[in-house]
Order: sequence, then C-alpha cells, then structure tokens
Amino acid sequence: IVDEGPVKSWHKSVCRYCGTGCGVMLGMNKDKLVRVRGDQEAHNKGVICIKGSMLDSLMKDPNRLKTPKIKKDGKFVEASWEEAMSLMTSKFKEALNDHGPESIGFYGSGQLLIEESYTANKLFKAGFSSNNVDGNPRLCMASAAVGYTQTFGKDEPPGAYEDIDHAETFFLIGSNAYECHPPLWERIMLRKKANKNVKIIVVDPRKTKTAEHADIFLPVLPGKDMLLLNSMCSVMSELELLDDDFIAKHVSFNDGNKKISLEEYKKFLKDYRPEKVADELGITPREIREVAYQFAKSKATMSLWTMGINQRVQGVFLNNTLNSLHLITGQICRPGATPLSLTGQSNACGGVRDTGSLAHLLPNGRLVANGTHRQEMEKLWKVPEGTIAPKPGRHALAMFDGMVKDVVKTALIMCTNPAQSLPNNRYYREGMEKAFLVVAEIFEDTETAKFADVLLPAALYIEKEGVYGQTERRYQIIEKLRDPVGEARSDFDILVDFANRMGQGNLITYKTPNECWDEYRNISKASKYDFSGITYDRLKKERGIQWPCPSEDHPGTVRRYIKGDPFADKHVNANHKVHFYGKPDGRAVVFARPYKAGVEDVSEDKPLFLTTGRVISQWHTGTMTYRISELKHSAGPGRFVFHPQDAGLNNVKKGDKIEVESSRGKMQGIVDISDHETPGVVFGAFYDAKFLVNNVVSDDHDPISKEPDYKVTAIKVKKV
Ligand code: SF4
Repeated sequence: IVDEGPVKSWHKSVCRYCGTGCGVMLGMNKDKLVRVRGDQEAHNKGVICIKGSMLDSLMKDPNRLKTPKIKKDGKFVEASWEEAMSLMTSKFKEALNDHGPESIGFYGSGQLLIEESYTANKLFKAGFSSNNVDGNPRLCMASAAVGYTQTFGKDEPPGAYEDIDHAETFFLIGSNAYECHPPLWERIMLRKKANKNVKIIVVDPRKTKTAEHADIFLPVLPGKDMLLLNSMCSVMSELELLDDDFIAKHVSFNDGNKKISLEEYKKFLKDYRPEKVADELGITPREIREVAYQFAKSKATMSLWTMGINQRVQGVFLNNTLNSLHLITGQICRPGATPLSLTGQSNACGGVRDTGSLAHLLPNGRLVANGTHRQEMEKLWKVPEGTIAPKPGRHALAMFDGMVKDVVKTALIMCTNPAQSLPNNRYYREGMEKAFLVVAEIFEDTETAKFADVLLPAALYIEKEGVYGQTERRYQIIEKLRDPVGEARSDFDILVDFANRMGQGNLITYKTPNECWDEYRNISKASKYDFSGITYDRLKKERGIQWPCPSEDHPGTVRRYIKGDPFADKHVNANHKVHFYGKPDGRAVVFARPYKAGVEDVSEDKPLFLTTGRVISQWHTGTMTYRISELKHSAGPGRFVFHPQDAGLNNVKKGDKIEVESSRGKMQGIVDISDHETPGVVFGAFYDAKFLVNNVVSDDHDPISKEPDYKVTAIKVKKV
C-alpha cells in the first residue's frame, strides 16, 4: 500500500464496479485518490465491499496504457492519436463502402458512462445505419430485460432496494448476494435481525455463503429450476393461495401465443404438481409446498435473482415466471413485496438497457423492429426517415460469429473483455483474430487488448465525468476529479472525435458529457421512461434520483405502477391501487411457460455439471481487481472446485491437474475441493485469465434474449 498523503478534500462519487451502485466518498490529495469510504447518505448507508474499498489501489496502478498503439508485424508500436484515429477511420470507411453497414460493429459495456453508450448507439444506428451495437450486458441481464418487458410492458424493476427494509420473506434464486452484492446482503441481514419473522429462502445448486445463512435452502440441480417455479405456482393454485382480487383487477394470462383464462392457466400448472417434479429437482414435494406457502402467505415477499436465472437457455421464461409468482399472489407494488433482479455491472441498466444500446433496441424501451419507434427516434435524432435500418443487428455472440465468418470486418470494442468473458471462447477468439479491431482499454495486458489492431488508451473512473444508472433505476453522477493518465482520453471524447472524422459532426453536435446528457434526458420526455427532470446540477446535489422523474421539481420514483409514479397517478384510486401502464389494458401478464430440458444435461459420457460465477474479492474478468495484490491473494488462482464426494469418485485430490472436456472443447486446470459444492456440480470462477474456464463453457443461449447459458455445461474430467 502506497501512502500518498492525507486527504485534502472529500468528494461524493459512485463505485466503479458492480450494479449495486454504492455511493462512495473519495478522499483526494490534489489529483491523487488516497482514501475511499462508503457514503452514509447514499442508499448503501455507508456500507461498501472489499472491492469498492480498494478503488484507490486501482487508480494508483502504474501500468496503465498511456499512449495509442498500432499493431505492426504482430507487435504493438506506439502511435500518435492522429495516426491511430486516422487508421481506425479509414478501416471503418473502407468496410462501410465495400461491404455496407452490416460489416461494422460496436461492442460496448455496462461500465461505459450513459453519455458514452448513448453516443455510440446514436452514431452507429443513426449515423452509419448499422444496428450492430451490442455489448457485455447481453451476457448478464438480457433475459431480465426481456422478462420485465414481456410481463409489464416496460423494462426495469417495479421495486427498489428500500423494499429490503419492509420485506418479511426473501426469495433468493440464482443469486449469491453475500459475495456478489455484499451491501445488499448486509441490508437483508439487518432486516432479519430487526424482525424475527423474517425468513430467507435460497435456491441454488451450490451451498454458497448466501445459502449458509438461509432458513430454507433448496439445492436444486442445475438447469431444473423452471420446474421449481412452476411447481410453486401449482401449489399456490392447489392450496388456494392466489390473490383473486389482485388477479381480477390487474392480471391477464397468456400461453405465449394468445390470451388464456385463469382456469386454463391452472390446468397448465397441474403438470407441475410437487409429486411430479420433486425427484427431477433433487428435493422433496414437502419442501416445494413449504416454500410456496411461505412465499404466498408472508406479509411481503421480495425476490432477488441474478445470473443463475438470467444466464440460462430458459432465462426469459424463468424471469417471466418469477414475475408471475408475485402477480398471482399479489406480492407486488407494496413496500417489501416485489421482484428485483440484481445487476452485475455499474451501468448495465442505465447505460445499456435505458439507452437502448443493444442490437434490437432503441432508447427508452423502443424496438428497432418497430416502425413507429424507428420513426420517433429518427425525428428526435433529426435524421431522415428510413435512416435506422429495420432489422435488428447482431447480438453479442452473433457479432463475434460474424467476425469468424468474415461478415463483420471492423469493430470498436470499449470497456470490456470478450476474449475472456464469452463462452465457447476459443471459437469467438478466431473472429477477433480475423477482424480489424479497435480496442479502447485502460491496460494493455487484457485478453481482448491482445487482439487489437489499434489500441486506444482510455480514461478511467474519476478521470472523466458522466452518469451511471444502477439496479433500482437510480441515476448517480461521477464527477471528474483528475486528468487522465498519459495521453488517455475518455471513451466519450474518442467517440465524438471518431464521429467527426466519419463526417457525422452534424449528428453528434454536443461537445461535453453534460450537453449529451441534456439531449438524452430531453428525448426521454417522449417515453414512459421519462427522466427529463434529472439534471447534472441535481445529481451533484442529491444522492441519486430514481426515474421516472418528469420535471425538475419531481422527487423521483421509488416504486413504479402505484401512486407516486407519474404515469400511474391518474389511473389509481381507492379501489384500484395499481396500474401497469406498459400494457394497453393496464394489466401485467402471467405467462404459462413450460419447462424444457436443456441440451446440456449430464449423461454417462459427461456425468458432471460445470457452473461458473464470481467470488467476493474479484470482479468479472478481473482486469481491474486481479491486479490488486490484496484482492488477488484473497481470491487465489482460478480452480475447478469439486464436492469431496465427486473428488473421490473421480479419484482426484486438491492440487491435482485435470483435463475437463465439454461439448465445446477441452482445457486443463487444477482441482480444489469444498463441501460448499453440491455432489454432481463443479464450480469454476472466471476472474483469472490464466484459468480460462469459458473455453469449455457452452454457448447455448436463450432463443429470445440471446443471453448465453454459463450455468449449465455437461463435462467429464480426467486426471492428467
Ligand atoms: Fe462497489 Fe459493488 Fe462493492 Fe458496492 S457492492 S462497493 S458497488 S463492488
């Protein structure tokens, strides 16, 4: 730890890493970040995790990329910004002229600032007529976004973190909040301490640290939890636990193609009676009944989930059904009663979902495939009708597959590391090798930077200014507190420069993040995602504001679809307290979603499940946290972790070298053993670039959201 002197001034900011979006106080000594602590006035009430508390170590790293580089004969050589940007521009122009808009792409990140994602999205979709704009949020929350949109007609959650303080039952499924969202977990534990009726239910194939604290832990087998959710609905129907009044006023039913009646929905559920599915889930019928009863009868039930549900071939159906559990029991739109999907990245919600920076989206919930939405955006962006291409672009996997197939020739990658994070990794790396890649990065040694033809040094965190939007629709500002290192530039400045060089100066007319934000917040007025009342000035004074927020004197909206939500206000009254305004009839949709067995199932040939995830001291691909020695030491190197029983059956012990084989290939790794794993399930975390577990992870994906399934890969192992 390098002591860089005392704190001269404290500044409010937001943690750089995860979607919890913790408020932090940054202690600066001139241009040096010397201390970090949680902000008592922020939603996280002063609590931050080990990663956030070491943001100063990240900012002190001496190995930052400081100058642009161009690859020549396989080696990077330093270049001027002029040389690097000229080469980038000529390659994009060449691809556009010779092969059209579908030959270029932008692959962004839920860590870019809102102003950066918005600018890239506008530039590619309205400037180049290319919808090939996607990014790593496709890998983490695309299924949640589609799930909300299908159920409520609008993306983003109805509830907020504040609901934790009112809930009586917590239903955590596919979420290791203890390790991945520690301040939220601490808030749950405080709630439990304050109220002896609080119950925590955890559903997970692994006995995670979260599961250790559960009142009820259901270790269901990987890939089967759709059976559990439908079975819970079936118990609720069978035991008459449905909220008939809420259903009559606010819910409609659908089988995926057409409206159905409540009776038809109940008939669908009969196939999921606990006795029919419990064996396949690896639990007992009684456990399913107990959990269903607790969920329905609790005074307020809050569901929390993350990648265990989203990163699945049935990710959208799982999200729909989680929302349905709340709708059929009326456990929604009251304090403490809500579904709340947790996000992995700091700005995946605000920066990517809300700005529409995915291949099928346009800003504020609009869809590329919808002609009216395209026309609305063309008007707002002041481009001729027909500029935005009508066909959705390439989602993440398709973008890199397009490179493998030599269809996507040139791409800009910002603030993300697909060469480590994509599943079936070796295959998509072939594409990165073939295409002309411009990579904006903070370090030169990331797996993706190695594939760059042009490497651009990017500003990091407080070296630039802009807005982050976290899980609960809260926008918070990061103010610039020091200049970028060396010649680094913000991704925003790079994009504005690129736009001008590509002849799009008339489209990208703003020059600063604040001007960009003003344009973006003003166009949000035309939608029910209205946050036009959130200005930079307000963000600097207030501790984050939750949208909708339609005017500068509006306080923001904690819970949606009820009184206080500006779009619900005129519809709600004493008898009718909820209005799902995303749907023309004001009713949220309960979908009858059948369970479908995945392609990746265990067999005699591949008898184990491989599942992947995070550990508390590391964040995502570790490009920022694995270089901090204390955090690296805490996590150790990446390993294949076995339950002792499986280790015995496979004749391996801690430290052994093994070969793991899946349908996607083979890799070698070292064995670790822990009784936190479940028999039949092997765990591999993905933070360590030297342990590239994604080499063997399947790239099967949800057919609707296109989010890959990182949680269920069938494998066999042998000792090397
Ligand atoms: Fe940062 Fe997430 Fe940790 Fe909060 S929980 S301090 S946002 S990494």
